[in-house]
Amino acid sequence: MINARFAAAANRIAALIYPHRCFLCDTVLPYPQTVCETCAKTLLRFREMRGALCDVCGMPLKTCCCRPNRLYEKAVFPLLYDGEAKRAVYRFKFRGRKDLAKPFAHAVANALRERDALDGIDLIAFVPMTKAAARKRGYNQARLLCEALREETGLPMEPLLTKQRANRTQHDLTDRLFRSGNVLGVYEPDEGCRSQIEGRRILLVDDILTTGATLNEAAKTLLIFGAKSVTVAVIAGVPRKKKK
Ligand SMILES: [Zn+2]
Ligand SMILES: [Zn+2]
Repeated sequence: MINARFAAAANRIAALIYPHRCFLCDTVLPYPQTVCETCAKTLLRFREMRGALCDVCGMPLKTCCCRPNRLYEKAVFPLLYDGEAKRAVYRFKFRGRKDLAKPFAHAVANALRERDALDGIDLIAFVPMTKAAARKRGYNQARLLCEALREETGLPMEPLLTKQRANRTQHDLTDRLFRSGNVLGVYEPDEGCRSQIEGRRILLVDDILTTGATLNEAAKTLLIFGAKSVTVAVIAGVPRKKKK
């Protein structure tokens, strides 16, 4: 009883020092709310669109980005990369907001459950950064998301892949074909984890899905080394721009 009261008081003090914020739009919220009403509606709207989403690429059907060379089974995400979701991913990735891994993972896990995408998964892995890039940022956001997803789902996680060389930043490249060539051969299985790949059904985690080239390349490495299947989970999918 005393412990419970102490914990409640400690939470209130923590809320004063670190006010609760909506994980998407960053507005301060009363404890213990983690998402504001407007952003909750955004999440819900995407969830309600489920019947109108492509079961494979996860995009709204009219912007389906399925491509013939796709190697992963399907992609799952709880948000479109737009508006508040876009700004929230930016905070997570470039503004040191590591605390966002947990609410993002919660939303991702819900989306995975809704699409029965966790059924049969043996292992979770993340898209790696080069050592130099991780050192520069101080963390790999995909790894943080993966760790939080391990807590959410109870599935084991392994650092299956490494990235040996840098490719040019994806958003610097506009040509889709060039993009898909930009990531060829950059991922390798981690020496210590090779035996974990064979015969396993792997959930591969990254922050966002743009053309799918990065995730396809990482999936290819896993499949070459014997993975049974690869499913992809990200925070947000980037809607394909309309052709001019
Ligand atoms: Zn909000
Ligand atoms: Zn599709």
